[in-house]
Amino acid sequence: MATLTLLADSYFDGTRHHANGPYQIEISDGVISRIEQGQSDVPPVGNVVRAPFVMPGMAEAHCHLFLDGAELDLDKRKRYLSAPRDQMLEVGRRSLKENLASGITLIRDAGDIHGINHELRTELSQTNGITADLRSPGRAIRKAGRYGGFMAEETTDAQSIERTVRRLAETADDLKILLTGIIDFEKGQMKGGVQFDLSETRLIVKIAHEHGLKTFAHCSGQDGLQIAVDAGIDSIEHGFFMDRQIVAKMADKGIAWVPTFSPVWFQYERPECCGWNQASVERLNQILNNHFEHIAAASDAGVPIVAGSDAGSYGVPHGRGLIDELLFQHRAGMSMEKVLASATSTPRRLWGCPSADIKAGNEANLLVLDGSPFDSIENLRSIRQIIRGKMQYEF
Ligand SMILES: [Zn+2]
Repeated sequence: MATLTLLADSYFDGTRHHANGPYQIEISDGVISRIEQGQSDVPPVGNVVRAPFVMPGMAEAHCHLFLDGAELDLDKRKRYLSAPRDQMLEVGRRSLKENLASGITLIRDAGDIHGINHELRTELSQTNGITADLRSPGRAIRKAGRYGGFMAEETTDAQSIERTVRRLAETADDLKILLTGIIDFEKGQMKGGVQFDLSETRLIVKIAHEHGLKTFAHCSGQDGLQIAVDAGIDSIEHGFFMDRQIVAKMADKGIAWVPTFSPVWFQYERPECCGWNQASVERLNQILNNHFEHIAAASDAGVPIVAGSDAGSYGVPHGRGLIDELLFQHRAGMSMEKVLASATSTPRRLWGCPSADIKAGNEANLLVLDGSPFDSIENLRSIRQIIRGKMQYEF
């Protein structure tokens, strides 16, 4: 394809909605060369394709590629954690395809102890066809004996923390930290205390930054959130039990929030899968309501909200999970522009990735949809075509 012109009814450029089409979006040799509104004097060039809605390729900020979130058999999931490496690689390759099929062209893996994420990153760099870009942390870090064995290696004292972070930084694109444990849904509170105290967390952030790495922390509950904001973690993942004072600090410091509604929502919607009783379902409901309330407040306060689904977690399939996440943000009260920015321009800006905004001069990294999400958010599931540079992928 030398030149291709998309005749778009409307488009989202990464920040703003352009609703008054038609627009001619001209792509020459893989680069967006011209965007014009209305019936231009210049006739469309090259191959002309009607495109109901155009937006940048999406980013998934939090998933575990080596895990199959659609597998609901808990015994099978447990056995899988000691499966042969080849089997895990196969699952990872399938996860990548599922992401791409949902319009995701940039993925940040959130950690795996086997390093399948790093191996997939190498494979992708040697692939010729259209693919998603992958940021991989390799292994995450945790405290010895604490939560996260399937994704993180153990550290003990300050010396071991420093040594581990420096070693991981040699191959990691970002540093993933397990700052807290997980939620006890029967009690509606966190399991165990924080994994790293304030001075340890500051040390982790300092060393990661020395190596040019951003930090993202698995963190929920007041104690952990307080440490995360005080230590200057770059992105808070999950962030359940949020409050207004933490939100204000995040806005102040420009700390991102990846809320990952999906895994908790699944347990609320399908309590029988986890054996939850009515009391636990009520706790899940309270936790989710608190989350909805604070996402909207954080977005209003200027906290960068970034879409990540925790796909690979129980009940969260790759690709589809991210679209669900956007639905949750919208339901929380975020505007559609902010919802779409959370999965396009915001993560790319925060991570220092090339812009995929729909504007002249940018390499094409875009999606054609059958309908506009501004008409119905479900249209986010109607991807017709992905264009990346000179390559196209049709559905
Ligand atoms: Zn995760």
